[in-house]
Amino acid sequence: MADPKAKKPYDILIIGGGINGCGIARDAAGRGYSVCLAEMNDLASGTSSWSTKLIHGGLRYLEYYEFRLVREALIEREILWAVAPHIVRPLRFILPHHKGLRPAWLIRLGLFLYDYLGGRKALPPTTTIDLSTHETGKPLKPLFSKGFEYSDCWVDDARLVVLNAVDAAERGADIYVRTKVISAKRVGGLWHAVLKDMTTCEERTITARLIVNAAGPWVDAVLTDTVGRTNQNNVRMVQGSHIVVNKMFDHDRCYIFQNDDNRIIFAIPYEQDFTLIGTTDRDYDGDPADVKITQGEIDYLCDAASDYFKTPLAPKDIVWTYSGVRPLYDDGASEAQEATRDYTLKLDKSAEDAAPLVNIFGGKITTYRKLAESMLDIVEAELGAKKPSWTGNGHLPGGNFEIDEVDALVDRLQSSHPFIRRETALRLVRAYGTDTATLLEGITTLDDLGDDFSGASNAGLYASEIDYLMDHEWAQTAEDVLWRRSKLGLRVSKENAKTIENYMQARRTHDKP
Ligand code: FAD
Repeated sequence: MADPKAKKPYDILIIGGGINGCGIARDAAGRGYSVCLAEMNDLASGTSSWSTKLIHGGLRYLEYYEFRLVREALIEREILWAVAPHIVRPLRFILPHHKGLRPAWLIRLGLFLYDYLGGRKALPPTTTIDLSTHETGKPLKPLFSKGFEYSDCWVDDARLVVLNAVDAAERGADIYVRTKVISAKRVGGLWHAVLKDMTTCEERTITARLIVNAAGPWVDAVLTDTVGRTNQNNVRMVQGSHIVVNKMFDHDRCYIFQNDDNRIIFAIPYEQDFTLIGTTDRDYDGDPADVKITQGEIDYLCDAASDYFKTPLAPKDIVWTYSGVRPLYDDGASEAQEATRDYTLKLDKSAEDAAPLVNIFGGKITTYRKLAESMLDIVEAELGAKKPSWTGNGHLPGGNFEIDEVDALVDRLQSSHPFIRRETALRLVRAYGTDTATLLEGITTLDDLGDDFSGASNAGLYASEIDYLMDHEWAQTAEDVLWRRSKLGLRVSKENAKTIENYMQARRTHDKP
């Protein structure tokens, strides 16, 4: 039975707080639908924080003739940059040419198509470069003399998820973290769903007119375990892993390397002092929560990078690794790397008047906004239309400034708060944009920032930021703060992480009614 004290039925219950769930919650709440989103762990704790963090058309998808996907993704680059200029930034890619690749003229033609397919306006176009003189040639082996430079964008993937959730909540959505949807049944034209608080183990029932299954790699598990279906095998789970090493080069461009097996990897400047290298593609059949990099993947990434860089890379150089599982729609492709990166939305309705369920298979961070719009087309058809689409011009929280204003914001922050170091000011602006002002409200001295949890690192992490993340962004644990709301886990020691955990736990207990 539904909880009689609960609100009237939600229009939409969204299962999963990754980029797709949060993107849909934001779009739907902004159009006037009542929305409940349940995430069984932390926001972005699934695939959405384990990506390569590129907003890209996917140069290599052109080879699989995925023109629709590439075009849609290319157009999204500049839209997302404009609505979230704090967490999205342009990135130039260096593609060194060599004999093992397609002829240079063909690659140039592909890049020409890439430049123009997406109606590029602000991003600079492709150029040909002489790697023997260009600064990006310096870290590479001398055998690479010719290269191409083209544009895509970079995004802080986990923050993109959280900011979508923040905006959804500001527009009226109820967002529940550490809350698992453990069962959902159709009763008289409505869904009755049981939500379990994973901290207290309390259960309650809510009702909704429509369910969106945005559980990423768990989408089939939700269909079987939550909705009670049998034999669901819609998703091909493909593991991808990354390694992080101390920075291998001093410029701000990223490399794209094609390997002997025809796969590509990226070497991306990361968090000021590091280089991010990935990714791999291997079929995976375990629980997505348990995925870990294998020794084979470590060796593969080190070898592939060492084929290009003058300084060879060895497993001992690695400072951090992460792995995720791509929830790709199973299109029957033989190789994991060939499986489509496009998304499919499937409406499931047992009868004309039955409550609808819409399942999401596949997708990319890059196309999450378009995926949400496609989902809203289905929602409108099922529940009736409300307001029109709006997210193409709607800034994400803190993103209401011009794309070239980041440095000006940092300058302003430093003149209003001279006791904040420049690196920290830049980090804050990159994470919170104009909302840094809310974070720093009432703070006029270094002491006002509260306890410093940075230890010997230069993290610039103070109690006031942790409080903000707990109060505004659903952070509950040190891991939420250090590995998803930020990547300060790369700098803060284990002991400091423990101190942060204790601080957060004490604050949570103290705040309990
Ligand atoms: P997820 O982020 O996995 O979210 C699903 C959520 O559902 C999870 O948080 C999970 O905890 C929750 N959940 C599951 N079951 C329940 C339940 N019963 N109740 C409540 N919650 C539940 N895309 C790009 O555009 N650019 C890239 O550079 C890129 N690189 C990638 C590299 C790798 C290695 C990988 C793995 C993917 C990459 N992608 C990239 C793809 C992109 O990351 C994914 O397509 C996207 O993150 C999927 O988001 P999602 O919301 O569908 O799934």
